[in-house]
Amino acid sequence: MLTDDVAVVTGGSSGNGRAIARRFAAEGADVVIADLQEEPREGGTPTHELIPEETDAEATFVECDVSNVADLEAAVEAAEEFGGVTVMVNNAGIFHGEEFLEVDEEAFDRMMDINVKGVYFGAQAAAKRMVEGEGGAIINLSSVAGLEGSGEFVTYCGTKGAVRLLTYSMAAKLGPDGVRVNAIHPGLIETKMTTEDYAIIGTEAEDQFLEAIPSRRAGQPEDVADAALYLASDLAGYVNGESLVVDGGMTNT
Ligand code: NAD
Repeated sequence: MLTDDVAVVTGGSSGNGRAIARRFAAEGADVVIADLQEEPREGGTPTHELIPEETDAEATFVECDVSNVADLEAAVEAAEEFGGVTVMVNNAGIFHGEEFLEVDEEAFDRMMDINVKGVYFGAQAAAKRMVEGEGGAIINLSSVAGLEGSGEFVTYCGTKGAVRLLTYSMAAKLGPDGVRVNAIHPGLIETKMTTEDYAIIGTEAEDQFLEAIPSRRAGQPEDVADAALYLASDLAGYVNGESLVVDGGMTNT
């Protein structure tokens, strides 16, 4: 489905980003993984093994901190080796539980820098190349936390809500130039974020979450990757400025 595509995936060394990179590679896309570090989480696939043998696609790694605009531009530049970026996935993001009255300026700025600024300038770097070329698709990782507020995750909700409206606004701006911009809003997905950084899965809190999820399971990174594949592909050729919720029914029920 993506044999003519070149994808850049930020945060592609773990979780959702890793699954997206693998899925895209399996569909024939060349993939640039842009992350702070190359090593995948334990049990993950090294970059050079991401590509299934039956395709002639390639994968490469670029060290990138998405809060640094020059790093994002370098990641997009790295895609030139394969012909230039056609799919940009702004996936890198961080999450921490917080007590609103105690969040300090440094923690606030860090989350904004990665979750919002990283998406903005990742999209901008890719769009500059796409509008010169034959267009493309930009996919931004928001969250169900970008659809509704929560007193427990005030900053995170703010960043993911910003991603949602940035997505709609970028779609309006870039659509006439042949660039589609869409957002994915995952619910509870089993990644390092939800098993280690802010452990929900594997704790008592998981049962409470599952009660609220009609599908009665946590999502897997592959569920998110399938949604990303749809949005990247021609199947979504007339889908622009959309929020695709991947949450097992949690938000609307
Ligand atoms: P993860 O922690 O497994 O992976 C995140 C990756 O981003 C890591 O490889 C990490 O090194 C990288 N990263 C972090 N800061 C970076 C930076 N400054 N520059 C470049 N890379 C950086 O988490 P995940 O669950 O796969 O999260 C991916 C995206 O999905 C995030 O935007 C997250 O907010 C979103 N999301 C996750 C869930 C969930 O339940 N896991 C739900 C909704 C949304």
